[in-house]
Amino acid sequence: MDKEFETLFGSDVFNKAVMKEYLSEKAYDQLQSTINEGKELDITVANEVANAMRQWAIQKGATHFTHWFQPLTGITAEKHDGFIGFENGEAITEFSGKELIKGEPDASSFPSGGLRSTFEARGYTAWDPTSYAFVKGNTLYIPTAFCSFGGEALDKKTPLLRSMDALNKEALRVLKCLGVKANKVVPQVGPEQEYFLIDEKVFKQRIDLMLCGRTLFGTAAPKGQQLEDHYFGSIKPRVQAFMEELNETLWRLGVPAKTEHNEVAPAQHELAPIYESCNIATDHNQITMEAMQKVAQKHGLVCLLTEKPFAGVNGSGKHNNWSMGTDTGTNLLSIGKTPEDHLRFYLFLTAVIKAVDEYQDLIRISVATASNDNRLGANEAPPAIVSVYLGDELTDALFAIDHDSFTKDSKKSLLSLGVSSIPSFIKDNTDRNRTSPFAFTGNKFELRMLGSSNSIAGSNIVLNSAVASVLKEFADELEKDNSKENIVKLIKKEVSTHKRILFNGNGYGDEWVIEAKKRGLYNLKTTPDCLPYLISDKNINMFKSVNVFSESELQARYATQVESYIEHMLIEARTMVEMANENYLPAIARFSKEIAETILIKKQAYANVIVDYEEGLLKTLSTLLTNAKDNVSELEGYLTSINNKEGIEKANFIKDNLIPVMAKLRDNIDAAERITPEAIWPYPGYGKILFSVL
Ligand code: ADP
Ligand code: MG
Repeated sequence: MDKEFETLFGSDVFNKAVMKEYLSEKAYDQLQSTINEGKELDITVANEVANAMRQWAIQKGATHFTHWFQPLTGITAEKHDGFIGFENGEAITEFSGKELIKGEPDASSFPSGGLRSTFEARGYTAWDPTSYAFVKGNTLYIPTAFCSFGGEALDKKTPLLRSMDALNKEALRVLKCLGVKANKVVPQVGPEQEYFLIDEKVFKQRIDLMLCGRTLFGTAAPKGQQLEDHYFGSIKPRVQAFMEELNETLWRLGVPAKTEHNEVAPAQHELAPIYESCNIATDHNQITMEAMQKVAQKHGLVCLLTEKPFAGVNGSGKHNNWSMGTDTGTNLLSIGKTPEDHLRFYLFLTAVIKAVDEYQDLIRISVATASNDNRLGANEAPPAIVSVYLGDELTDALFAIDHDSFTKDSKKSLLSLGVSSIPSFIKDNTDRNRTSPFAFTGNKFELRMLGSSNSIAGSNIVLNSAVASVLKEFADELEKDNSKENIVKLIKKEVSTHKRILFNGNGYGDEWVIEAKKRGLYNLKTTPDCLPYLISDKNINMFKSVNVFSESELQARYATQVESYIEHMLIEARTMVEMANENYLPAIARFSKEIAETILIKKQAYANVIVDYEEGLLKTLSTLLTNAKDNVSELEGYLTSINNKEGIEKANFIKDNLIPVMAKLRDNIDAAERITPEAIWPYPGYGKILFSVL
C-alpha cells in the first residue's frame, strides 16, 4: 500500500515534482518565487510553463483546459477550451502563457451584485499559481481568481488571497516586535465535511430532494437516531465502496483526505482532510464536495450536502479548524515551551479573542444561508450567538497573566500561570465542549457554525481579515514599545475588554441566550437578520483597513447574499405548493373518500354498526386537509404579492410571512402522513429514505 499510495497521491496534479521534471531550471526557479513570494512571472517563462502543462496534461489524457473559479454563488464554475489549434493548415495542440495567465469567460451570467453593468459585463480570470493545476477527466483545471475589468473581486478566491496577505503582513510585524524570526505567516485550515448518502431511487421519487436538496415534508421514522447506533458504527459495504473510490479520486487530485466515519444520524457521514494552507484547503474542499456528488452517482447513491435534509434528524455542518503557521514551523496558536513562546502564544490568542468579539456579526454572516438557518441554533448545532470556548484552565491562565509569567525562569512562569503543567491541559482540553461555535482545541480554533454546503472561503476571509486588523493595531502599539511589560499590559487590557466573548458553558442551553443578551452579544438568528451588518460602517472600515474589500465590493456581496436567500426560499415555497396541490392534498382527499365509502358500506350492511374509528379518522383528515388547503392559498397569495418587493425587504417578508406558513403547511401534511397508509402516500417516507442504503 505504501508505495502504491505514494505513486497515487497527487498523480493528477501539476505539482512541484512534475514542474521539476517538465521545466528548465530557470523556469522552475522563477515559478517557485512566483508561488512563494508573489514575484511576477515574465511571459517567456509563462509560455514555458503553459507548454509544460499542456504536454503533461495531454499525456494524462486531457484535450481541454479550463480556468476554474469560485463565483459568488454555486460550487465552482468552469468553461472548457480545447488545446486544438491550427498552424499552416495543420491541426496542432496549443496553449500559451497568455491563455494560462488570463482568461475571459463569458461571465455575464454570474452574479456580480451590481458590480458590472451589462455594457462591461465581462470579467477576467487570473491564474492562481499558489494552487496547483490538475487534470480531471479530459480537462486541465487551472485554479483562477475572477475579477471585473476594474479589478473588483467577483469571486471568493480574490478576497481570500487578499486576507491571507493581510494576515501575513500584520502577523510578521507583531512577530518582529516579539523578536521571533519568520518570513511568512500562513493561515492553515482543516475542514471536516459532513454529508448524507441516500439511494438514488428514493431520491428520484422526491421532487423536494431533487429541487431543494432537502425534504420539505416528512415525518420522523419510527427509528431515527435515538439508538445512536450509527455514530462510528461499522460502515455498510456500499458506503465503504463509495468511500474507497472517493478517497482514491481525492488522493489523485492531491487532496489529503484522512479520516472518514459515520456521523450521528442514519445515512450521515464525515470526511476530514489533513490541514493545508487556507487557499489550498478551500480549493480542496470545493473539489471534495464535487467529487462526493460525482462518485456517489457512480454507486447509485446521492450525496446530500444541504444543511438539514431531514427534520428531526441531525443536520450536516462543516468544522473549520483554523490556525496560523510560520514558514519556520511555528504554530502561533501553540503554547510552546519557553516563556517567550508563552508570551507569543497569549498575544496571538488575545488577538483572536478580540477579533471574534469585535466581528461576531461578520462570523455569523460568513455562514449565513437560507439552508443553514434550518440548522444553527437547533439543539444539534452551535447557536447563532458567537462566543469563544477556551476551557476553564486556559481561561484561568489567561486572566492570571502577569509580568512574572514571562520571566526567564520557565518553571516559575508555568507555576505563576496557575497550572502545574501546561502541556497536559492542552491535551485534555481538546474538544470537551461540542456546543461552542468557536472552540480552542489545543493548537487551533474550530469554527463549527459552517453549514455543510458553505464554501469555507467566507469564514476564512472573515477570520483572516479580522485577526489581521487586530494584529495591525497590536503592531502599531508594540512598534512604539515592545518591552515585556508593555506586551503583558496589552494582553491584560484586551482580555479584560473582550472577556464577554469567552464562554465555556453549554451553548445549547436557554440560559445562555439570556446571559449572552446581558453581555451584549449579538444573537442574529436568521440570514435576513444578520446580512445588513455586512455593510455597517464598522465592518466596511475594517475590511478597507486590511485591503480585503472595498465598500462597493461589500455592497455587491450583500446584494448577492440577499438575492440568493430570496431565490432559495422562493424555490422551496413554490415546490411546497406544487407538492401539496399535485399530490398531498389529492392523496388525503382520496384516502378520505375511501374511509367515507367504508362508513357508508358498513352502515348499509348493518345500521347499528360502530364506525367510531372511521369517523374519527375522517374528521381528522378533513380538518388537516382544510387547514393545509388554507395554508397553500395563503402561500400562493404571498408568492404573488411578494413581487412588488425587493432586496432585504423581500427577504424579511419571506422570513416573517412565508416561512411561518410553510411550517404550518408542513405540520398539517406531516400529521396526515402519520395516519395515512404508506401505499396511499405519494412520496417515500423518512424510514425508506434514511435506511435506503444497505
Ligand atoms: P475532531 O473530529 O476531533 O475535531 P478531526 O481529526 O476529525 O478531529 O479533524 C480535525 C481537523 O483539524 C483535521 O482536518 C486536521 O488536519 C485539522 N488540524 C489539525 N491541526 C491543525 C492546525 N494546527 N491548524 C488547522 N487545522 C488543524
Ligand atoms: Mg472537529
